[in-house]
Amino acid sequence: MKVLLTMLSFLLVPRVCEAVSILVGIMQGSSFHAARIEVTAGSFDVQGAGQLRIASGQSFELIAEGSQVVIRRGEERIANASSITLKGNGEFRIAATGLKATGRIYPGELIAKATGGRLLLLNRLDVEEYIPGVIEAEAGARHTLEYYKVQAIISRTYALSNLRRHEAEGFNLCDQVHCQVYHGRPRFVPEAVTATNETFDVVIVDDDINLITAAFHSNCGGHTLNAEHVWSKPLSYCVGRRDTFCLVMPNSNWEKSIPLDQWTRYLDSKRFPQDDSLEVEALAYFPQEKELYFVDERTRIPMRTIRTDFKLRSAYFTVHRDGAAVRLIGQGFGHGVGLCQEGAMRMAQLGYSYKDIIQFYYHGVHLVPRRFIWFFKED
Ligand SMILES: [Zn+2]
Ligand SMILES: [Zn+2]
Repeated sequence: MKVLLTMLSFLLVPRVCEAVSILVGIMQGSSFHAARIEVTAGSFDVQGAGQLRIASGQSFELIAEGSQVVIRRGEERIANASSITLKGNGEFRIAATGLKATGRIYPGELIAKATGGRLLLLNRLDVEEYIPGVIEAEAGARHTLEYYKVQAIISRTYALSNLRRHEAEGFNLCDQVHCQVYHGRPRFVPEAVTATNETFDVVIVDDDINLITAAFHSNCGGHTLNAEHVWSKPLSYCVGRRDTFCLVMPNSNWEKSIPLDQWTRYLDSKRFPQDDSLEVEALAYFPQEKELYFVDERTRIPMRTIRTDFKLRSAYFTVHRDGAAVRLIGQGFGHGVGLCQEGAMRMAQLGYSYKDIIQFYYHGVHLVPRRFIWFFKED
């Protein structure tokens, strides 16, 4: 009965009433005090500036003055307000003063604020309109449609479970790696829109029907890790597993040479134990599988600390003495928890479905439309 009800409700509930709008802090990677906004399609009403309406092809400037935003067109100062909103049905481009032009085009609304003479730009849009931009920025071009569907679902799940990440700053998510990279609507990957539409509203939930923390990384190096091995908290669905799909991919291997004296000084600074057999292994280290500590637990030097200190691509490597240097030969790229993007790309090429791929990397999860989470939670 429940299955039947679910199927019926899926058919009956219209998509349009389900939009979730999010507020993304854009161009967060740099600081600027002024920007030129050019409307590239449609038209916008500018709220906070009287009756101003800007149509396609027209532009204006926003300038931060203390905590006020000033609107200027050419030499004419039109208005100033603590917040200015562009509301309409089009798209716009932003050129910030002092920064290189990017060509990025944004849909949705633009909200401008000022703090301490710095301009803060926010893009309000429907989450389904935001996802294609994230797919393009996070995954790039030339992948299968099935892989883009995987990226759509993990990015949607991530966005909806992290809406409070920038609460203190007055928006939901930033547009940097800190949250998810977002450069406006996709311009080079049209499949990003298809993948978003074909997985409309679908998110990943755990056994308690809570949105999962959809962690992902570039390449696990052949084995993913438990969440608690990298962060403090275990996650029931982020359980380490062997992954042979990512072994021959662009980010499968890396190498780094470090001068021998720098390496030994580093280990001394970490209080590497004075033990002959350990010291031999510090220069010739070949772990059989992913280890959490360098050489063994007695050293108390986590592999991921070495990764951070030497800016390595992963915490999974062997050590070889090479004359006056040590050569680190590593596998994978990233923290190794959750979904391995290059493994997922390979699975998609081999014909696995997006559901198979997501369930391979996240243990015991379910895919459900977000708007029906309440239904599954009821009993
Ligand atoms: Zn962020
Ligand atoms: Zn992998």
